[in-house]
Amino acid sequence: MPCTPQNRPAFAGNKYFCAALTNPHTCMIPLSIPNLAGNEWQYVKECIETGWISSVGAYVGKFEQMVADYAGAKYGVATVNGTAAIHIALELAGVGEGDLVIVPNITFIASANAVRYTGADPLLIDVDPHTWQMDLDLLEQFLREETYYKRNHCYRKSDHRRIAAILPVHVLGNMCDMDRLLRLAQENAVAVIEDSTEALGSRYKSKNAGTFGLLGTFSFNGNKIISTGGGGVIVTNDENLAKKAKHITNQAKTDPFEYIHDEVGYNYRLVNVLAAIGVAQMEQLPDFITRKKVIDRMYRDGLEGKAGDVVFQRVGENVDPNCWLHTLKTAHQRPLIQHLLDNGVQCRPFWVPMNRLRMFRGEQYITAADEAGKVYESCISIPSSTSLTDEQVHEVIRVIRGFFEKH
Ligand SMILES: *Cc1c(COP(=O)(O)O)cnc(C)c1O
Repeated sequence: MPCTPQNRPAFAGNKYFCAALTNPHTCMIPLSIPNLAGNEWQYVKECIETGWISSVGAYVGKFEQMVADYAGAKYGVATVNGTAAIHIALELAGVGEGDLVIVPNITFIASANAVRYTGADPLLIDVDPHTWQMDLDLLEQFLREETYYKRNHCYRKSDHRRIAAILPVHVLGNMCDMDRLLRLAQENAVAVIEDSTEALGSRYKSKNAGTFGLLGTFSFNGNKIISTGGGGVIVTNDENLAKKAKHITNQAKTDPFEYIHDEVGYNYRLVNVLAAIGVAQMEQLPDFITRKKVIDRMYRDGLEGKAGDVVFQRVGENVDPNCWLHTLKTAHQRPLIQHLLDNGVQCRPFWVPMNRLRMFRGEQYITAADEAGKVYESCISIPSSTSLTDEQVHEVIRVIRGFFEKH
């Protein structure tokens, strides 16, 4: 692996700072980096040579359609990043000031932040200890006992605030029991918007992540299964919502010539030069998913039952995941993280649960045993890049096994 700035992360200031990383010639086996082995350069070059680098150009529409087609949705609307995609999807679902949106307590901050951007607040639900997805037993119990139905909307009994949407997060490309989630949402008149940002290519009963709710969202951040540097796409089967999404992410401009805008919109569009990278990345996505699955199998075969108490995320029933980010669970989390970093293997602890963050501490958290806290305290994401060689995967396995021989 060539030593590039991308696979040489700086940990200075982090308490897991390790001496090896101060040496610029030392490379770690990277966690999750972009794989730009296709037509990226050719398409970007074309944008630059023709001048079409900005908000207009053929690659935007092409990329939108490729993502929509791959996800099995009719329409795709590109956005500047995945967070913006979630924000717009929530807004189009009618989420607004004073509403509540149900969010799993284990997610990347973007999901909960996007809820706040609309003026709503997240209502946190604990996760399943094995799949790390929203716990549907807790969701069902909450909806049954603590909400009521009035004129086609769902309200929280304690303060009569409307529960406007459920935002399932397909954590690491896995999914919960989507049939059951949709049934609960429908029975309680709550819209479903999917944070499927990590799950491009994941399926539940042959149906793609992103197509279960009113709108689905994808992210193309640097660490995702495909990347445009930064970017996102909203998918939907509703033509009207797709048109509105395009409109509102382009400053709600109604006239091609005059500066006439019919509402407060956003500058949330993806530029052509990044969409060009996206088109090249989409061409390789099937191969990336195949590779992720092979790496997933190698890790599970090499570690489960062979390295202390290590287990991986349990795949939900009827789920065919894209195996985006390989993440293991162990009671020895912090010492293993240190051991990995000391041995040239980049890794990360899991997200701090939303209920432990200052901004969301005051929100209602539905839980029985704070499984989210346990997931946070025991999970480690390990190298997952599609460009990893088999040797590098074996090296990661060897380092982890080495740790457990001493523990
Ligand atoms: C990546 C991600 C997002 C969106 O991230 P952006 O960096 O804004 O593209 C949202 N939710 C989850 C769960 C994610 O992993």
